[in-house]
Amino acid sequence: MARIVLKFGGTSVADMGRIERAAGKIAREVALGHEVAVVVSAMSGVTNQLADHCNAITPIYDAREYDTVVSSGEQVTAGLMAIAIQKLGIEARSWLGWQVPILCSEVHGKARIEDIDSSKMLRHLGRDQVAVLAGFQGITERNRIATLGRGGSDTTAVALAAALEADRCDIYTDVDGVYTTDPRIVKRAKKIKKISYEEMLELASLGAKVLQTRSVEMAYKRDVPIQVLSSFDDAIGSDLVGTLVTREEDIMEKQVVNGVAYDKNEAKITLINVPDIPGVAAEVFGPLTDCDINVDMIVQNVSSDGKVTNITFTVPKEDLDRATECIKNIDKLKGADVRSDKDIVKISVVGIGMISHAGVAKVMFQTLADKGINIQVIATSEIKISVIIDKEYLELAVRALHTAYGLDAESAA
Ligand code: ADP
Ligand code: ASP
Ligand code: MG
Repeated sequence: MARIVLKFGGTSVADMGRIERAAGKIAREVALGHEVAVVVSAMSGVTNQLADHCNAITPIYDAREYDTVVSSGEQVTAGLMAIAIQKLGIEARSWLGWQVPILCSEVHGKARIEDIDSSKMLRHLGRDQVAVLAGFQGITERNRIATLGRGGSDTTAVALAAALEADRCDIYTDVDGVYTTDPRIVKRAKKIKKISYEEMLELASLGAKVLQTRSVEMAYKRDVPIQVLSSFDDAIGSDLVGTLVTREEDIMEKQVVNGVAYDKNEAKITLINVPDIPGVAAEVFGPLTDCDINVDMIVQNVSSDGKVTNITFTVPKEDLDRATECIKNIDKLKGADVRSDKDIVKISVVGIGMISHAGVAKVMFQTLADKGINIQVIATSEIKISVIIDKEYLELAVRALHTAYGLDAESAA
């Protein structure tokens, strides 16, 4: 007997038929003698709709009330899933974040899970009752509901698996595993059987939205094996058919480049004619950090006259207006020209083998050059290279790089 956490994403609970289908998979795991806790997302499209309702009243809303609104989608699916499981003759009950409780930080809209008291839920699991937890939410010390950022149900699932000391966390979604790149863009993408936490962390943080970055961080820290698998296949998690995200030493075959990721959610800001004096970077990036804006890639040009220079950096698209506003208020930058560009995309190649192989960057730059694609910004780390390009070339670049690094499957999937 194992203890397993199963998570069903938005498309996997998109209508009553799919909820019942998911309940069928849960019932099969229960029949194998496993103790099962389930985490559900809102039905696909519902969270967007709820967020739109807030925006329709005012774009500058109270984040605590936004969380009250957007967390409601998961409440609906948790109740419906419990009903669907009960219909199969299995005991089940729904849990909202506060009922567990799942304690979160106060950063509404992108709160972090700080603690889960699993004792109550464990008592119910011990009585052969399936626990169905609403994902994406928790409660703050001030007794307010907080949500975990888009895609946050993955993190709820992994955090719950860690708190329950579960043997595995199965993430059911609309693709049957983690691929070498988004299978919706590259038909020849290959399914990866096993991937290390480190590589998955890079892929997720660079845009592969199949797992929320924080869920991978948490799995890595707490040593929770994750399996990504499709809710549309007949197989269940115990058949071990998906992609296993696990420790590096458990993986025999290592590739130089393991995957290509893209992120459409960044925007570029360029500051022209910034004084080339010590302390300017601190003047720019300090206030942005104070406003909770995550700056990603940064490039500062060499000054040609020794007096002024240009700084380019990227921020999440949703924070672009706040970031430019923030910069306009910085005294030392009063003479600078601020330009922003939303029509960009970040493309990254990732692989743990890069540490010991030279020439990975060369292949990337040459491949993009051959396709006539201009690189605007470059950033590298030990196991990834990222570039910013015009968003028009997204698909062309991802496909070309996928082929250039030998990742294409023999035949189209
Ligand atoms: P869910 O609603 O189940 O949480 P998401 O839409 O958040 O599902 O994540 C699944 C999607 O992630 C897939 O439909 C796929 O388009 C996308 N994706 C991006 N990169 C990858 C990748 N490398 N491997 C698999 N899926 C990927
Ligand atoms: N429903 C939330 C979202 O759409 C959380 C999740 O699905 O993981 O972002
Ligand atoms: Mg998701």
